[in-house]
Amino acid sequence: MGSIDTSFDVFNGFYNTINGQLSKTEKTRHGINPATGKPNPEVPVSTQQDVDNAVAAGKAAFQTWSKTPWAERKKAVLAFADALEEHAQDFGKLLTQEQGKPVQFAVQEAQTGVHWLRELSKIELKEEIVEEDAQKQVIVRYTPLGVTVGIVPWNFPIHLACGKIGPSLLTGNPIIIKPSPFTPYCNLKMGELAQKFFPPGVLQVLSGDDNLGPWLTAHPGPDKISFTGSTFTGKKVMESAAKTLKRVTLELGGKDPAIVTKNVDINSVAAKIATLAFLNSGQICLAIKRIYVHESIHDQFRDAMVAFTKTLKVGDGSEEGVFLGPVQNSMQYEKVKTFFSDIEKEKWTVAVGGKNEDKPGYFITPTIIDKPSDTSRIATEEPFGPIVPLMTWTDEDDVIARANNTKMGLGASVWSDDLKEASRIARQLDAGSVWVNTHLELDPNAPFGGHKESGVGYEWGIGGLRAFCNAQTLYLKKST
Ligand code: NAD
Repeated sequence: MGSIDTSFDVFNGFYNTINGQLSKTEKTRHGINPATGKPNPEVPVSTQQDVDNAVAAGKAAFQTWSKTPWAERKKAVLAFADALEEHAQDFGKLLTQEQGKPVQFAVQEAQTGVHWLRELSKIELKEEIVEEDAQKQVIVRYTPLGVTVGIVPWNFPIHLACGKIGPSLLTGNPIIIKPSPFTPYCNLKMGELAQKFFPPGVLQVLSGDDNLGPWLTAHPGPDKISFTGSTFTGKKVMESAAKTLKRVTLELGGKDPAIVTKNVDINSVAAKIATLAFLNSGQICLAIKRIYVHESIHDQFRDAMVAFTKTLKVGDGSEEGVFLGPVQNSMQYEKVKTFFSDIEKEKWTVAVGGKNEDKPGYFITPTIIDKPSDTSRIATEEPFGPIVPLMTWTDEDDVIARANNTKMGLGASVWSDDLKEASRIARQLDAGSVWVNTHLELDPNAPFGGHKESGVGYEWGIGGLRAFCNAQTLYLKKST
């Protein structure tokens, strides 16, 4: 990075980045530390004028950034990744303060963001000659779209922003990142840090209230929206983007099933499945949200899951040894608690958990509901919190049908030491990511997206980069 100064204070001063400048707004607001309920620092509330300014700066930057050689764009993205890595510990602490997750997972998220930037930088979209003879060449090119907008949710703000920034900037498209109003801090600081590596207008970050997302999707300037969030909001984004035919990539909600056959090491798989259901306090699009265990091992499996779940510490993410931090915000907390109110109403059997302590902070006890009906709320809706249903199965075709019987199709997993059985079941599951003997393990080189109402298009990998481009076919006759 030579002489570029990467020193900056992660914890103080939160500004928009517009056209290379740190910019304030007249009105400000603040997030809440979900572990304490105390306010975090003030952040900008962008106006329509700020949106206009950022889009105009992005459009001006497009003129040069789109023509900047790929190698130079890659160098800038990698330098940004290095700087993010240098400050990963501080970004982790800030992430815990705004998002709630335990600090070891928060630092890991910053490092995952860095890994994504680096791996995506290894991909290059080259021109492809698809047909050639003495008279002609047919060449496929991938040309940048223009200004893009990355709309980010509150569960993985650093990682998910990096997954949009890398592909957009590598392919020549300036990007405007819009964090969730619940978690604007790390994204604003990433924007500030980025100004050291990119020309003005190439990477901008705007924070705001609930008006900001709709302003950006409706604005005639941007050419693509890369959205990650709920299915409900994703539909609104698509509707709004349709008016100007902006490209959209939608990464949406999930209701991932995990099918456990009788051919497993019960204790080990029970612990892994509980981990993958309760990680990030269940606030992961790809968390395990339905467990189907073979009837013949149900009791043992349930007991092993219960024993393991009891070892998971709930608390302030800045404390040592905590596995489940608070749920991120009060709205989500109230939503998750409605599933707890249903326990008595619906006469669900609680295997472990079931009650929440009355104390400050949005803490939820990890909970397993034993054998609820397939049509119950807990088996059909996405709580986005640490409460999961455990159901049983006996017939393979039947459990596959039940796993697929949802409008969601983000992820799914099969657990079995019989790889033939596992692979046979896995290939029949209708989801964008399907795992055998694991879940949630993602790869920046592989497409990530949802089937059905879990998404439109996909991110990452070579196709993820192409999604930030127009395809152009050049028909080249070699003589007149
Ligand atoms: P959300 O849909 O409420 O918000 C996501 C983002 O959209 C936020 O930045 C929000 O401010 C913005 N937004 C809200 N209304 C908007 C509008 N009308 N126009 C434009 N932008 C708008 O989602 P959330 O609660 O932040 O995140 C949780 C959801 O996201 C869950 O359903 C989860 O499964 C999903 N998720 C999906 C993925 C994935 O990659 N598929 C990853 C993480 C989370």
